[in-house]
Amino acid sequence: MSEINKPLNFIEKIIEEDLKTGKITKIQTRFPPEPNGYLHIGHAKSIVLNFGLAQKYQGQCNLRFDDTNPVKEDIEFVESIKKDVQWLGFEWQDEVKYTSDYFDQLHDWAVYLIEQGKAYVCDLNQDETRKYRGTLTQAGQNSPYRSRSIEENLNLFSQMRAGDFDEGHCALRAIIDMSHPNMQMRDPILYRIKKVSHHQTGDKWCIYPSYDYAHGQGDSIERISHSICTLEFEEHRPLYDWFIENLPVPSTPHQYEFSRLNVNYTITSKRKLKQLVDEKVVDGWDDPRMPTISGLRRRGFTPQSVRKFCELAGVTRTDGVVDVATLEFTVREDLNENVPRAMCVLNPLKVILTNYPEDKVEILHAPGHPFKDGFTPRVLPFGREILIDQADFREAANKKYKRLVIGKRVRLRNAYIIEADAAIKDADGNIIEVHARIIEDTVGKNPTDGIKAKGVIHWVSAADNIDCEIRIYDRLFTQAEPEAGGADFMQCINPDSLKIIKGCKVEKAIAIDQREVQYQFEREGYFIQDSQDSHTDKLIFNQTISLRDTWAKINKS
Ligand code: ATP
Ligand code: MG
Repeated sequence: MSEINKPLNFIEKIIEEDLKTGKITKIQTRFPPEPNGYLHIGHAKSIVLNFGLAQKYQGQCNLRFDDTNPVKEDIEFVESIKKDVQWLGFEWQDEVKYTSDYFDQLHDWAVYLIEQGKAYVCDLNQDETRKYRGTLTQAGQNSPYRSRSIEENLNLFSQMRAGDFDEGHCALRAIIDMSHPNMQMRDPILYRIKKVSHHQTGDKWCIYPSYDYAHGQGDSIERISHSICTLEFEEHRPLYDWFIENLPVPSTPHQYEFSRLNVNYTITSKRKLKQLVDEKVVDGWDDPRMPTISGLRRRGFTPQSVRKFCELAGVTRTDGVVDVATLEFTVREDLNENVPRAMCVLNPLKVILTNYPEDKVEILHAPGHPFKDGFTPRVLPFGREILIDQADFREAANKKYKRLVIGKRVRLRNAYIIEADAAIKDADGNIIEVHARIIEDTVGKNPTDGIKAKGVIHWVSAADNIDCEIRIYDRLFTQAEPEAGGADFMQCINPDSLKIIKGCKVEKAIAIDQREVQYQFEREGYFIQDSQDSHTDKLIFNQTISLRDTWAKINKS
C-alpha cells in the first residue's frame, strides 16, 4: 500500500482533527524512556510512532529521559538509548531533555499545591498507606495526617528536602479523594525521600518526584501537544489531567494511549531482559539473540527493517501478539535487495579436480548482486583444489538430491560444471576428500555433450580463502508465549539458541576491514560481521536470518 493510500491510525485521525479545528498548530511529541535498561523492540514502536508523527506533520519530537528513579538508572543506559534512537534514523529536537531538568520547577509546584491546601506530608508507612488506600471494591480512608495545616506541611516538606528525615519516614501526597473509584486518584504520592545520588543532578536532591507527578508537567513545560503512551497508563489519565488543571502550568497537553507491541517468542520488558543479562543467559544487552535494539543491530537487522516492522504492526488500542516471523520477513526483504553476495563454506570438504593442472589458477568473475547495479563485481580464484560444504556431497543419492554425487554432475556457482568420481575416506570411514573432474568449457555455458547439471552448489578456493567463525542463532525461548498463564520465562530458555561453527571458509573478495558489513552468503543466509571490538583477532559473522522461513516447517513436524 502506498503511503498516500494508507488509512490513518486513530492517533493520526485525532491529530488531523486538532489541526483542522485549530486546537493545535504545531505537533510536538516526545519519546520518554526511563534510563533503567536498554531499549527493546517495543520501544522501537513507540519511537517510530512519536518521531514518525512529528515528521509526518512537520512537527518535532523530543527525547526526554524520564529519570525520576535514580536507584535503577544509569548513565550507561542514557548513552545506549541515544545511540539506539539515532540508529533507527531519528533526530530529536534541540538538546536531549531530562525530567531532572525540571526538578526545581516540580518542587516549586509541589510547594504551590501545599499552599493551595492540595498536598500534605503523610507519615504513614508503606503498609499503612496500602491499608488506608482501600481496594477496587472498597473506598479508602483518609490518612490521619491529611488535616495538617498548610504551615506545618510547608515546614515538613522543607525538612524532607533538607534531608532531616530517613527514607520512608514520610511522603508528600496530593489531596484528591480517598473514595474515588479510580485508585490512582486516592491521594497519590508526589515526592518520596531517596538518599541516593542521581546521574544528572548528583547529590542536590534527596527527595524525588513520582512518575505520575513529573510526567505531565514535563509534557507541559515542553509544550507537548500529544503525549502518547501505552494502554497501562489509561487509568492514570485522570490524574495526569488533575495536575494540569491544578497547577499554573504553561500549556495543557493531553495523553493518548495505544496498545503495547508484543511479539511471540520474545520478552519486552527491560526488567526481565536485565535478568537475562544479569544471570548470564545471554552475553550482554547487545547479544544478537536479545530483542533489544542493540541486539537486533548486532544481529544484522537494519533500521529500515525495524521501522517497517513497527509500521506493519499498526497503532491500535487492542492488545495482540505480532508474529516474530513478520520481523524476520522485513529484514529478509531488505537484505535481499541491499546487500552484496558472497560464498562461504560452513563445513568444508575438499574436492580435488583431478583433470585440472596443479599450478593453474584462473580468475573467474561474479556479480556483487544478482539483480541490482552498484555492487563491486567479485573476482574468484579457481584452482585444482576447492572446498564445498559437507552437506553438498553424497556417495549415492536419489533424484531429489540435486548436489554432488559420484557419477553425477553439479554446477559450481559462477564456475565450472564438475562430475564426481570417488570419495576418499580415513581409517574410520569418514569422507575426507572427493575426487572429481571439471567439464571443460562450462563456465557460464552448458556442456557440449548435452548432459546438464541438475543443481548448483557454492564453493571457495582451497588455497585462497579467509577463515572465519559463524554464529547461528535460534529463538531464545521454546514457547511462543514464554509467560503464558503466569509461567516463568526462565524455564523455557532454548538451550540451542546459539550454534558456533568454527573453520568456515569465505571467499577472498569480501571486505573484512569493515565492521558490521553484511552479505548474503549464497545458499546459506544473511550474515553480518560481528561488531564487538574484543573480536579483533578473528573474523566472526553472525547469521541475521536464513534465506527462507524454514522454522515453522521444522518445528511443526
Ligand atoms: P519496560 O517495562 O520495558 O521498562 P516501560 O514502558 O517501563 O517498558 P519506558 O522506558 O518507561 O519503558 O518506556 C518509554 C516509552 O516506550 C513509553 O512511552 C512506553 O509506553 C513505550 N513502550 C515501552 N514498551 C513498549 C511496547 N512494548 N510497545 C510500545 N511502546 C512501548
Ligand atoms: Mg518502566
